[in-house]
This record gives sequence, C-alpha cells and structure tokens, in this order.
Amino acid sequence: MDSQPDIIFKVWGSRGSIFAGGPERSIFGGDTTCFSIETDGRFLVVDAGSGLRALGHQLMTRPEGPPAEIDLLLTHLHIDHICGLPFFAPLISGKTIVRLWNSVYPDPETLRDALSRGLAPPIFPVDTTVWNSLEIRVPEAGARVALGPDSMARAFPLNHPDGACGWRVNSSGRVVVVASDHEHGNPSIDAQVAYYSRFSDLMVWDASYTEEELQNRRGWGHSTWQQGLKVGEKVGVNRMLMTHHLPERTDDELTDMERAAQALAHRTLFAREGLVISL
Ligand SMILES: [Zn+2]
Ligand SMILES: [Zn+2]
Repeated sequence: MDSQPDIIFKVWGSRGSIFAGGPERSIFGGDTTCFSIETDGRFLVVDAGSGLRALGHQLMTRPEGPPAEIDLLLTHLHIDHICGLPFFAPLISGKTIVRLWNSVYPDPETLRDALSRGLAPPIFPVDTTVWNSLEIRVPEAGARVALGPDSMARAFPLNHPDGACGWRVNSSGRVVVVASDHEHGNPSIDAQVAYYSRFSDLMVWDASYTEEELQNRRGWGHSTWQQGLKVGEKVGVNRMLMTHHLPERTDDELTDMERAAQALAHRTLFAREGLVISL
C-alpha cells in the first residue's frame, strides 16, 4: 500500500494580473494565483487570488467542516494576490482562525491599513472589519515561522514593485518554494532566492513573460521560464512549476511553452487549476 504523501500541493489559480476565462483558457484556468499545501495535519495557503474562493467553498463543504486554523502565506498585496480574500468563506464562518503572514510590512497595523484601503467602500461594499478571525503576522525575512510540530516556513525577498516575499515551506523533510512575483536580475535578491530555493522538492516560479516580451517589460517585476530553469538547475531543485500566466495566454500557447520547457528539463510543469502534486 502506498504511504501517505508528506505534502499535498494543489493549484487553485495560476493566472497573473487579472482573471481571464473563456473556452481558450479552460485547461490552465482563469483564476488568479492561489495554492494550498496540506501537510503535518495543517492547512496552508499561499496567496489569496481569485482561486481562493473555490478553495474556501471546498473547505466549507467537506464532511469534517473547515479547518480550525489556516495559515495564509501572502507574497504581496497586489490585487491579483488578494482579490479572493473577501470571497473566502472560512474567513467569516466563525469556525476558522486565519493567520495571514507577510514579511514586507514593518508591523501588522501597516499591512491591515494597506488591505483596508484597497478593500473598502466604494471600491468593495464590505470592509475588512468583518474578518474578525483574521490575525496578521509580519515575521522578518529569514525568520523561522513555526506552523506545526514538523513544519515551518521562512519568507525571503523578491524583486517586485512595492515589495514582495517568497516562501520556503519545510515539512516532514520536504520543501516547497514559491517565488512569484519576481523579476530575475537583481544580484543581491537573486542570491537570496537561490539560497532559499536550494534542494527544494518543488519550486513555483514566476514565468509571466517570454524572452521577447521581457525585453520591453524590464522593471515590471516578472521573469521567464528560461530564467527559472537556470535558477532551479543551479540550486538543485527537483521539480519546477511555472505560474503567473498572462491573462491573454491561451491553452495552446501555454502547452507549447510547457513542451519547450520540458525539452530542456523534463520535470517541469506549467501550473493549471486543479493540478495536485504529492511530495
Ligand atoms: Zn501578480
Ligand atoms: Zn505583483
């Protein structure tokens, strides 16, 4: 009999910038960035894009009900990474404590203020005061965040407008790294990304652009799959998962990009909604 995997990683949203649906995007999906990590009896979420809504629905309708606690590791506050929060049912269920972690802000109040400015009337009809089970934590980059008896996470800086942090999650000897949104090319930040990604079992990488697109989008805060493969190879990553697909990208285009990447590194996938990776 197969033993239980140490980590079950699932993609709930793989788009960047804005939701993009339609029949040409039915395979990779239209929801923006959101991943879940089940491990060590805990439920972790990385980023709260529009994919978070479906995850919340699934948690509320499972026989055992939603988890008593969820740790939400947030990379940054750009709208494609937080727009699912007001639609995340566990947050207003009264049954779940949601701890939101991010290392970009100096204190919880500053982060809460920033969130409240974006998600309040008249931009959004309900303000963030209804999230009474939300706890905000702002660990320093590199600090050990204890998540369970045998799991922890560390935030590390990413190169992105307004700041962002990646996450290295370590549980039961397995390591998942999320490094999106990130523009490769800043030597000191690249060194930290490489350090925190070393020997990971799975690395999620910002592959927004083609090499051609990158030429006139320097400074916009995103990278290519080719850059990701080089980083992954250099630091001994086992599997790469490319994400943050541009809204205009069709299934056919993403499949072609995935094939090209797999020709260079066969343990590479492009993130699609519903994809489950057991580690
Ligand atoms: Zn983004
Ligand atoms: Zn961003």
